[in-house]
Amino acid sequence: MFFIMSVTEKCEQLNYHEVTECPVCGKFGAAEVYMTYSCFSMFFLPLVKFNRRYQVRMNCCGAGAALPKETGEAIRAGEGITVPPEVFDKMVKRNRTCPNCGFSTTEDYEFCPYCGHPMM
Ligand SMILES: [Zn+2]
Ligand SMILES: [Zn+2]
Repeated sequence: MFFIMSVTEKCEQLNYHEVTECPVCGKFGAAEVYMTYSCFSMFFLPLVKFNRRYQVRMNCCGAGAALPKETGEAIRAGEGITVPPEVFDKMVKRNRTCPNCGFSTTEDYEFCPYCGHPMM
């Protein structure tokens, strides 16, 4: 018997949109919340979602910060919660990392300059 099992990283945008002054580039941008999770699949059927993480990202310059799990879950549940100000204080310019070779940069590369893999 031959099983095809895989674990993939998925990213979902949550229904959150807050216009605010970006702490990184100083422009007005919208804060958007994303949920990243790992998904265990067998025969390409997603079975289990685990390891949920949340992050806020500015749509002006891509700056982002991790969101505490409770806040992320509350936003996902539509509880009318806003991103706490201390999360904006922690925002840093987006660091893109190549999931294939580990190359990391703050430049806006869509694809890894070393191996051509799409950057995260
Ligand atoms: Zn910005
Ligand atoms: Zn690479």
